[in-house]
Amino acid sequence: MPSQYPQNCVDFNAGHLLHRLYGLQQTYLHISPESMAQVAKEFQLPVSQVASVVDFYSFFYQKPVGQYHILFSNCTSCGYQTDQHNLLEMICRLLTVMPGKARADGRVSVGETSCIGMCDHGASMLINGVPLVGLNVEKIAQITHLVSEHQPLSCWPVEWFQVENNIHKRDVLLNEQIQPGSSLKKALAGDSQLTLDVILHSGLRGRGGAGFDAGKKWRFCREAEGEAHYVVCNADEGEPGTFKDRVLLQSYADALFEGMTICAYVIGARKGFVYLRGEYRYLLNHLQNILKRRYEQSLLGTSILGQTEFSFDIEIVVGAGAYICGEESALIESLEGKPGIPRIRPPFPVTHGYLGQPTVVNNVETLIAAAYIAYHGSDWFKAMGTEQSTGSKILSVSGDCRTPGVYEYTHGVSVQQVLNDCGANNAQAVQIGGPAGALVAKKDFARQISFEDLPTGGSFLVFGAHRNLLSVNQNFARFFAHESCGFCTPCRVGTRLLENSFQKIADGRATRRDIQEIKQLSALVKRYSHCGLGHTAANHILDSLQDFPEVFEEKLVQTPFTPSINLDAALEDARQITRRDDADAHLE
Ligand code: SF4
Repeated sequence: MPSQYPQNCVDFNAGHLLHRLYGLQQTYLHISPESMAQVAKEFQLPVSQVASVVDFYSFFYQKPVGQYHILFSNCTSCGYQTDQHNLLEMICRLLTVMPGKARADGRVSVGETSCIGMCDHGASMLINGVPLVGLNVEKIAQITHLVSEHQPLSCWPVEWFQVENNIHKRDVLLNEQIQPGSSLKKALAGDSQLTLDVILHSGLRGRGGAGFDAGKKWRFCREAEGEAHYVVCNADEGEPGTFKDRVLLQSYADALFEGMTICAYVIGARKGFVYLRGEYRYLLNHLQNILKRRYEQSLLGTSILGQTEFSFDIEIVVGAGAYICGEESALIESLEGKPGIPRIRPPFPVTHGYLGQPTVVNNVETLIAAAYIAYHGSDWFKAMGTEQSTGSKILSVSGDCRTPGVYEYTHGVSVQQVLNDCGANNAQAVQIGGPAGALVAKKDFARQISFEDLPTGGSFLVFGAHRNLLSVNQNFARFFAHESCGFCTPCRVGTRLLENSFQKIADGRATRRDIQEIKQLSALVKRYSHCGLGHTAANHILDSLQDFPEVFEEKLVQTPFTPSINLDAALEDARQITRRDDADAHLE
């Protein structure tokens, strides 16, 4: 007897605090103090907790937004600003609206948001939460007209909202569509220890970038004591330039749910969550339909495939615009209906995760790979890639190339090969793994995508020879300052100071001393921040200073002031008294 699709999986206004708040935001275009008080009562929470959640997530507003609420992606690939045009400025001018404010008649508001994962579609926006892709000057003029005419979105050209997969290169994962239930049947045919062994022997490592051994994570969780165990799929890819999970969720969701179910079987979980980034809310109905079918096929619910001992439910929770929720402990906080502030670790989620219980958090690609491994076996997977990086990696390629899109390679492919395949003939550098990753200069294009050399969550941003790397760095610095959750001072203040420093350089007001300060500040933010966001926020700066110092230097001003004494020598006594003679104790 097939299971019923649980009602709480479809009732998005009731089950979860984020969904309830989203419903209010949709209805009233903002969340008022009265609404917060009402929700606090319904959820039996302090009003302050509900208020902190509303305050934390960027898709919740305490003042009304417009009936048409437009958010331009400000990513370097799907952003609104080119050398020729600033589409945000254009629409604001045409609609007589100030950026960041609703127009007086309440009709429209225009703002910007971090990367919305449409980098292979050119300039893009969210309008009332729905992605509208391929923006250009003509389309902006048409949008202005439709807003002025008060046309509902359902009457707008349907092709504007069509998000393509743009898969240009397939390897083992993208080549094959898993037959629903086929991997699960294989896994359930043996005991759960056997399936765990297969995952362990495959060498599968987390595809989010950090590369922790997936089998070990499953084993630690399985062995951890708790009242319940949980599987969480991190579908919150927010790294600017990353969009391959969007494609996987669109076309490989069965394999994802299969991987989650196999993980549940191994660790003894009865409940799983997909944490879907708010920017991908448009995929929700599609994912729910697949879940529904899987319940009907006895691939989810109670007594899966007739195994009376094995029951598992999957629920989808949709985020509300917070990059930091891609960090696994922040994601768990968000799942629990709180602001997504990263937890202090240890303890790690494998022992103390969702509701303090043992939890596996894996990303979309990892869980899909697990489903394929369960079907084909560990040797099949191990035969591909490099020694420490088995299997394949799916890349989101965008920026200055002829064919942006999704490319899958076995691990070990060179940066140059990817550039050849995507038609990037004139690249000066590639940002691998998003702003938090590594900037690879032309001289290093022989380096390889792998955990041994260049690990990546999947973002592959190409910068052509014409690209102004200073503006790229400025964009990244702004991104981190905006996305810092504010919990710890080195990151909260440091990222803002770095953003200001880049503005100073761009304005032509910076000196050599500012560059030194940027280096010191970058080292401080990297070392003393609480979580991965802060640890990696300055990577792009340090890489650029190392390989492209001229980009900074040509904007520096030479101060006319030349000291008449040797200031560094004058500090010698002070250095002797403090017994410091390291580089930081010198002025030069
Ligand atoms: Fe928040 Fe940044 Fe600190 Fe991470 S490093 S906890 S994002 S303030």
